[in-house]
Amino acid sequence: MEFKSINPYNGEEVGTYTGLSDTALDAKLKLAKEAFTKWKKVPLEERAKLMSKAGEVLKENVEKYAKMITLEMGKPISESRGEVNKCAWVCEYYAENAQEFLKDEVIETDAQKSFVRHDPIGAVFAVMPWNFPFWQVFRFAAPTLTAGNVGLLKHAANVFGSAEMIEEVFTKAGFPEGVFQNLIIHHDKTDKIVKDDIVKAITLTGSGRAGSAVAEIAGRNLKKSLLELGGSNAFIVWEDADIDKVVKTAITARMMNCGQSCIAAKRFILLEGIYDEFVEKFTVSVKDLKDGDPLNEDTKIGPMARKDLADELNRQVNESVALGAELLHGGNQKECYHEPTVLGNVTPEMPAFKEETFGPLATMIKAKSIEHAFELSEQSDFGLGVTVCTEDIEKALSMAGEVSDGAYFVNELVKSDPRLPFGGTKNSGFGRELAKDGMMEFVNRKTVYVK
Ligand code: NDP
Repeated sequence: MEFKSINPYNGEEVGTYTGLSDTALDAKLKLAKEAFTKWKKVPLEERAKLMSKAGEVLKENVEKYAKMITLEMGKPISESRGEVNKCAWVCEYYAENAQEFLKDEVIETDAQKSFVRHDPIGAVFAVMPWNFPFWQVFRFAAPTLTAGNVGLLKHAANVFGSAEMIEEVFTKAGFPEGVFQNLIIHHDKTDKIVKDDIVKAITLTGSGRAGSAVAEIAGRNLKKSLLELGGSNAFIVWEDADIDKVVKTAITARMMNCGQSCIAAKRFILLEGIYDEFVEKFTVSVKDLKDGDPLNEDTKIGPMARKDLADELNRQVNESVALGAELLHGGNQKECYHEPTVLGNVTPEMPAFKEETFGPLATMIKAKSIEHAFELSEQSDFGLGVTVCTEDIEKALSMAGEVSDGAYFVNELVKSDPRLPFGGTKNSGFGRELAKDGMMEFVNRKTVYVK
């Protein structure tokens, strides 16, 4: 089977990748098993050094890796560089903190000694998406490999060039063969891989559809799964907020990566008193966003990653307009390109409110009061994160318990940071990545007791 990655900006082929035969896949699984038996015995200090080296390799090759990201999925080149540098940061973060996270946890009991130790579990199988082709992978790989596990990657079929380069990072850093393996496969091989004894857990970032398919296979095989799925984050603006400042944050929160981020602000919930001012200033800023070739330094909006994704966004725009949403700007689509679009007076029955909108579409929603804004925010099947913008930080903090999401940000867009746990509730998935939590997901917290 052959896979092609296509530049969404001009339709040109970026690369062709030959799928693994069943025999070749079996050999990779066997290699993972052999690698694990040795890798788990490598002292943590040594594993951490190699992870730090992986960070250096990323920094030394920023241009090469950033270019591949942009060619394969259309992200503006400046953002691709930022992504590669963030991967270097997460490698460095775990290299520095693994010793502390993995140390024995002594617990006083009636035993002479009792504690929890943290042992690696085996191979973790990662099914990853195209929207942050490097970051999504390093976010799992940095803690997981440093903890002594081995990794198997099945990347999204449109970014196999990035996947090959990620394997190259670990090879160049000096990781032993088999500790991180990229698998060029169709997702129909998931069942076979998850069944294999060496695979102890599965981590998936992607759509709810893919997440539930993979979690079902994991459950059937009694293997742990971690899911990072879609989101429809509310971005709530109170009447006391500094609108000029907030609009700047809001534009980044929605339009970065051409809107293709699970934690992007997707529903702008605005208190009535500032609705008109916010919408006007936001729309002006959207009109100023420069679109074009994502390889150009000043491009802010490139193509979406695939035509089917742009088609889907356009359907959501059109159906919402048919239900009464006001088209304030944009709305047009050509192939993979979707014009940055602003919809006003969006209400809960519209697709732009109730579905995940994975592209450059901002939906403006009016709230009668702060309480109403929180009710609207909760009216979602997703639960990744919420932003609240206000000058009254104390009041905002006192209301953090009102949202059921996995994150609550005040005066800042919801973003991932290696030092903070990251993950969702409801249809946004389960489990946590990053920080100490991310490392604890794939270790055996083993209780040791000495009478
Ligand atoms: P998918 O969820 O289909 O793709 C994500 C990954 O899951 C890919 O590696 C894909 O492989 C794999 N996958 C898909 N179906 C299965 C399956 N049945 N079993 C095992 N693996 C599977 O996302 P799409 O690219 O189709 O995007 C669709 C929507 O998903 C977006 O519009 C957005 O709403 C959401 N999404 C959310 C992301 C996030 O960051 N949370 C990231 C990407 C998408 P393959 O490429 O081979 O199909």
